[in-house]
Amino acid sequence: VVSLKGIRKSFSGNEILKGVDLEVRKGEVLSILGPSGSGKTTLLRCVNALERPDAGIVRVDGTTIDFSGKVPNKQILELRRKTAMVFQNYNLFKNKTVLDNVTQGLTVVRGVAKNEARERALKALSSVGMDGYEDRYPVQLSGGQQQRVSIARALAIRPDVILLDEPTSALDPELVSDVNDVITKVAGTGVTMILVTHEIRFARNVASRVVFVEQGNIIEEGTPEQVIDNPQSPRIKEFLSKMM
Ligand code: ATP
Repeated sequence: VVSLKGIRKSFSGNEILKGVDLEVRKGEVLSILGPSGSGKTTLLRCVNALERPDAGIVRVDGTTIDFSGKVPNKQILELRRKTAMVFQNYNLFKNKTVLDNVTQGLTVVRGVAKNEARERALKALSSVGMDGYEDRYPVQLSGGQQQRVSIARALAIRPDVILLDEPTSALDPELVSDVNDVITKVAGTGVTMILVTHEIRFARNVASRVVFVEQGNIIEEGTPEQVIDNPQSPRIKEFLSKMM
């Protein structure tokens, strides 16, 4: 459902992604691991063109964009509509209720009728354990609850893929497992996900496949058992020994 080919991205002359290829199949939960600064977040943001690759081809479902040429904005919007993103800092609208935060992307961006948007939102909120919070505002919620709302917002869109960028790294430690449990539950429903995380143990539990990024290249990929329990590369062994 997602395919990246030859993705390159530089920031001020520094090549951060050096021609990355990546395939994600429907229903897969792919986790991107790697040291700080290796390009994980940049790679994730290339999937929905929040970062525009300098070169390479991105495909999500039936939308294919070749970034080597000039890319019309229309194509970028089409790509974005097929994806949903969960950010580190939740990115909820502070002046909107929980319900409005979840319906907004449906009614405004995707033209879903109000009633249907409401139904989808309530269902999504219930699936992340946030029933009864519809009329609250984000400030009235804990970080973990806000992140669950942001996951509900992504689910309600029914995108081809949900992109999660270190979804628990801004949370107090006692709230992390709550959010991880929700992500695990969502993963169990067959939703396709790409997850950038520093939490190796969580990645091991939730991911069906793992890629390890180092200095802008994928240096190893496979099942969690292969990459996390039995890595071939000495660099991964060293990284894991520091992290676990
Ligand atoms: P971390 O685990 O620390 O979040 P990461 O592997 O996700 O790291 P990226 O966030 O992709 O790494 O960043 C890779 C490199 O690209 C870093 O050196 C970062 O400073 C640089 N970078 C990322 N975004 C930008 C930007 N918008 N402008 C300039 N440099 C950037």
